[in-house]
Amino acid sequence: MIVTNNIDEVRQHRWAEAKLTWGLVPTMGYLHEGHLSLVQLSLAGNDRTAVTIFVNPTQFAPTEDLSSYPRNLEGDLALLEAAGVDLVFTPSDAIMYPPDFQTTITLSQVTQPLEGSSRPSHFAGVATVVAKLFNIVQPTRAYFGQKDAQQTIVLRQLVRDLNFNLEMVIGPTRREPDGLAMSSRNALLSAENRAAAPVLFRALNAAKTAYETGERSGEALRQVMRQTITAVPQARIDYVSAADPGTLAELDVVVDGVLLSTAVFFGQTRLIDNILIEATEDTE
Ligand code: AMP
Repeated sequence: MIVTNNIDEVRQHRWAEAKLTWGLVPTMGYLHEGHLSLVQLSLAGNDRTAVTIFVNPTQFAPTEDLSSYPRNLEGDLALLEAAGVDLVFTPSDAIMYPPDFQTTITLSQVTQPLEGSSRPSHFAGVATVVAKLFNIVQPTRAYFGQKDAQQTIVLRQLVRDLNFNLEMVIGPTRREPDGLAMSSRNALLSAENRAAAPVLFRALNAAKTAYETGERSGEALRQVMRQTITAVPQARIDYVSAADPGTLAELDVVVDGVLLSTAVFFGQTRLIDNILIEATEDTE
């Protein structure tokens, strides 16, 4: 396994094997089964797999948890080596953002609601760093998790808008046995908050059950989530949403599928989760 922080070296390996297919799995490290499930998809679908580990400072607001974001490069590399990854790119901040760096990619619409509303500069940071990683690795396919549902929508739009020549592959959300979506940030939870955190998935499932038993009011679905989460004293709701899966606009009435999502604070730690209910054939 090649481990490098050098952009030229990544390109050298990539283009020495130009005819092979390359999968790219961008991560911020502190790897868990969610990340590794994307790595497995890439290994199964491509001749070569590159993983990037970079805690991207530009997607964190000054008030957010950049300095406390968990890191374990040695452990991550051991997991990736055991998985059979070919190349790991571990750039420094200075390599990604030299002092004269000037470019930011912003998307005007799908970045605005939900995460974008709570974290206004977040997706500009994500889009810019992912565009750089796409240009550095030039993968055949790039792998992202449904856990970050809005991110997948933003990045699909980025790929379309800027004509990146790659296929986006979205992997399902991996969960702990109690339903909590795996996240590097789970390591930041106190024992008490960790015990409370499965309420996100419970709330999403309660809304899903309401949908399955015929509820089509967006507000009623949001209210089901609110009620479930506010019953847990450790949880502070940032948002609950029942949105159009394409535009992310909040729905009054669900007609063609719905993205149920929520962001909840436990102390300083903010967790997100979602369930996508796809449009069914018989909704007319
Ligand atoms: P991160 O390191 O948090 O930036 O995540 C890197 C990639 O892993 C992103 O595409 C995430 O959506 C994905 N990911 C994070 N958590 C999970 C999970 N529990 N299941 C599946 N994919 C995940």
